[in-house]
Amino acid sequence: MTFAPANAGISSLKPYQPGKPISELERELGITDIVKLASNENPLGCSESVKQAVSDAIAEIGRYPDGGGFILKDQIEKQFGFGHAHITLGNGSNDLLEMFARAFVSEKDSVVYSQHAFAVYSLVAQAINAEAIEVPAKGFAHDLAAMAAAVKENTKLIFIANPNNPTGTWFEEAEFEQFMQQVPAHVIVVLDEAYVEYFPENFNSLKFLKQYPNLIVSRTLSKCYGLAALRVGFALASVEVTDYLNRIRQPFNVNHLAMVAAVAALQDTAFIELSREVNKAGMKQLEDGVTALGLSYVPSRANFLLIDVQADPAATFNALLKEGVIVRPVGIPNHLRVSIGTESENAKFLTALAKVLGREAKA
Ligand code: PMP
Repeated sequence: MTFAPANAGISSLKPYQPGKPISELERELGITDIVKLASNENPLGCSESVKQAVSDAIAEIGRYPDGGGFILKDQIEKQFGFGHAHITLGNGSNDLLEMFARAFVSEKDSVVYSQHAFAVYSLVAQAINAEAIEVPAKGFAHDLAAMAAAVKENTKLIFIANPNNPTGTWFEEAEFEQFMQQVPAHVIVVLDEAYVEYFPENFNSLKFLKQYPNLIVSRTLSKCYGLAALRVGFALASVEVTDYLNRIRQPFNVNHLAMVAAVAALQDTAFIELSREVNKAGMKQLEDGVTALGLSYVPSRANFLLIDVQADPAATFNALLKEGVIVRPVGIPNHLRVSIGTESENAKFLTALAKVLGREAKA
């Protein structure tokens, strides 16, 4: 080898496996009419006002975007009540998750997260060669008390998802409050709320931000807002934490069309309402359909359902692909994660699942 090897964490790192794109399955199997329920996207796509805003802004792409993200930060301030000095913009929230680790964690430090949590938490810890402390889940959910107890002298950061992906599990405010009180004030707590828009009545994270300067709330526009392809996320935190994050943020990490689209998406509250309704109806359809097949699922407050298929997940996933349905194996034995789709997408999935598992729906 003529070049220095990558750092130890990166040498052994297995990269994130995204959901299979529709175009890839089309190429592989030569079939069309594919349903993708693999990446927790909004099955309605994005709102009409977003399309209009992006098309109106297309002539401006010859110039660099506003590196400070003024228009988007202004919209976020209007809507969530935190000023520009509390906001960090990300190229999707994955970009932010990496920034959090890079800003606060070094090789000598440890990062705490739960078993069955979002895969990127362990990847960003490993990439900087930090010690990863994975705390066993309680059932499928985060065990917040155990996570607080797992904090060591060298712990710098804790990743928490509420609701969690891939399990859909959630916790209530009282449990979180207790957790925050147990965690030492110098440890950064990342509360990843990628799915919060689907059940907003569940939890008010923003009030905790005022109380805990070590708390970061992370949001994305990839899910309910329907902008997955454009890559926009934002973090709310104390001025001190936000200052550190913005020192390492790439100056143009959120592009102009993404920012324009994000402003329009945040303003279109009717689209969010509709997306929520479609999700609730779709969740019920999948829950009922799965139950009728004699299967069980993990109750979810997100836009996906973790189903116990009582079969090998990889084999079931591959059999579903042949039926034109893309879902997601998530490394949990016997389980597959299925994003909530439109009524017809959900119906196609349920029919395909019954076929590949050789099960019949009972009324
Ligand atoms: N956090 C969680 C819990 C997620 O499920 C996802 C998307 N799968 C993300 C963060 C990252 O999403 P994005 O980078 O598209 O904002």
